[in-house]
Amino acid sequence: MKCRECGKTTREGKNYCPEHVDRCDYANEVLTRLAKRQAEVAEIKRGHINFQGEFVQDVLNNLEVIGAMKGGLLYRRLGMPFEAFQLLSCAMVKKGLIRRIGARNNSEGTLVLVRN
Ligand SMILES: [Zn+2]
Repeated sequence: MKCRECGKTTREGKNYCPEHVDRCDYANEVLTRLAKRQAEVAEIKRGHINFQGEFVQDVLNNLEVIGAMKGGLLYRRLGMPFEAFQLLSCAMVKKGLIRRIGARNNSEGTLVLVRN
């Protein structure tokens, strides 16, 4: 077998040489994570908000670190489709996790963390 990355002969019939096998594991991890996030976005669009999910945690973490942020900035930062972000942020406001200040529109309003 030859390494798919550099073409060197690999050991034990592996697809990657020792030098590139780590990078391959990392790439798989990224792809798995991406697929998981896409599945979560699809669920959100169906109206199923997983409050233990990655996006809810990401929103909370971002607002925790940054303080307050425009919804229009946050959804781009999270790499989320706007429609899904609207549903998610509304659900989080209703649940009392975050608050929206200013405009009623999700993309214009500023989101802040509700501290208990
Ligand atoms: Zn290689």
